[in-house]
Amino acid sequence: MTKVSYYSGETFPLEMHKVRIIQKLTLLPIEERLRAVEEAGYNTFLLENKDVFLDMLTDSGVNAMSDRQQAAMLLADDAYAGSATFTRLHAKLTEIFGKRYFLPAHQGRAAEHILCKAYITPGCTAVTNYHFTTWKAHVTELGGRVVELIRPEGLLVNSDNPFKGNFDVPRFEALVEEIGADKIPYVRMEAGTNLIGGQPFSLANLREVSQACRKHGVKLVMDASLLADNLHFIKTREAECADWEIADIARAMSDECDIVYFSARKLGFGRGGGIITDDEGVYKQLRGFVPMYEGFLTYGGMSVREMEAITVGLDETMDEDMINQGPQFISYLVKTLDEAGVPMVTPPGGLGAHVDASRFLDHVPQTQYPSAALASAVYLASGVRGMERGTMSEQREPDGTEPLADMELVRLAVPRRVFTLSQINYAIDRVRWLYDNRRLVGGLRWVEEPAILRFFYGRLEPIGDWQHELVAKFRQDFGQSL
Ligand SMILES: *Cc1c(COP(=O)(O)O)cnc(C)c1O
Repeated sequence: MTKVSYYSGETFPLEMHKVRIIQKLTLLPIEERLRAVEEAGYNTFLLENKDVFLDMLTDSGVNAMSDRQQAAMLLADDAYAGSATFTRLHAKLTEIFGKRYFLPAHQGRAAEHILCKAYITPGCTAVTNYHFTTWKAHVTELGGRVVELIRPEGLLVNSDNPFKGNFDVPRFEALVEEIGADKIPYVRMEAGTNLIGGQPFSLANLREVSQACRKHGVKLVMDASLLADNLHFIKTREAECADWEIADIARAMSDECDIVYFSARKLGFGRGGGIITDDEGVYKQLRGFVPMYEGFLTYGGMSVREMEAITVGLDETMDEDMINQGPQFISYLVKTLDEAGVPMVTPPGGLGAHVDASRFLDHVPQTQYPSAALASAVYLASGVRGMERGTMSEQREPDGTEPLADMELVRLAVPRRVFTLSQINYAIDRVRWLYDNRRLVGGLRWVEEPAILRFFYGRLEPIGDWQHELVAKFRQDFGQSL
């Protein structure tokens, strides 16, 4: 990594790339933002991008490509079967992960679909460090149960534990004792654990998990969608790996796992995904699902142009200067807001900064969706679109009861290589204003609540008239400016 220190003694992130293509943004007046969020049913997923200033909804499929990726896209070899583009992507994956077989899929959840179709049976127990929404939906749809064995510190909003994504091996041993290893189709380790704030696990922990899995004959699957961030954190936080190349860390992680799957909407700065394994039996077991659900075995629903971009993007992921911008910006965002007293998930993780909505809006009960209310309020205050990651992202039980989320968070995602530091500073400024006016923000209730993955397209409305009070206060403080 390129290490730079500063004469002033200050530290701030410094991008090791320059911007060569730009897209103009617009910042609407707050009254227009109010109209937009009302039309969107107070669900930031339903906002139109033209009404958004900084899109911090997600890091999925919105990472900036490099000149080398764009150039490679022109060289794509279009063929239904056996394209040279697929061969290049396959070879790059084998080079990085050291596994021979690659099953392409159109995105991460499609890889999850295939893995669940093959291994989840009614009554089984799928074990993970922590669930991800789409994976859990596939497991439960197929009659399986999800058990999360994150270590207790993973669920603390504030901690100085550098690896909050670590898996609790003793609890896994107890679970095997209780239900038997044959009830557990696989253990899924999610790199850069998304829903608890993009928190990594350590290589040492992965090794312990792998040892336990081998002992009991349980497959170990890694969700590598957020691997880039996890690699950066292992390199910067795990003493053993401080002098390792990123590629060596990636290989060591892969070596512990039977199956690796990923969303290339995150990993590889492209759009697509797939499953990698070195086990011929696994490959043959999964293979039939690819032409059935995704496309032929040499594209799996991806365009050849995207596959070329992913191949180069994966190569860039092995360059620390290319993957540290996201985590460094996030760290700056978290630390600055934390120092200003705004409750944040610490330590900073990957993929985005996470605001603790349960403390930010401690006057709004979980049944009134404080995370969703805060995400709407952030948009109103700034034109920044974040994402609800709390109770609204949960799903009702079959009997209609509503599980309350372990954490109520609003994620301000930092798409990789996209924003400038001044844009990050703008977001910080507006979140600070909102924090000082947090008592004005109230809860939300459903207008239309879908049964499956309700957070994506459900519609809500404010309880009371807090949105107008917030707009009035904004005008009082900012005058007629934006
Ligand atoms: C985004 C994500 C997925 C799903 O990937 P898509 O490409 O959006 O379908 C799966 N797992 C994790 C950890 C993710 O962050």
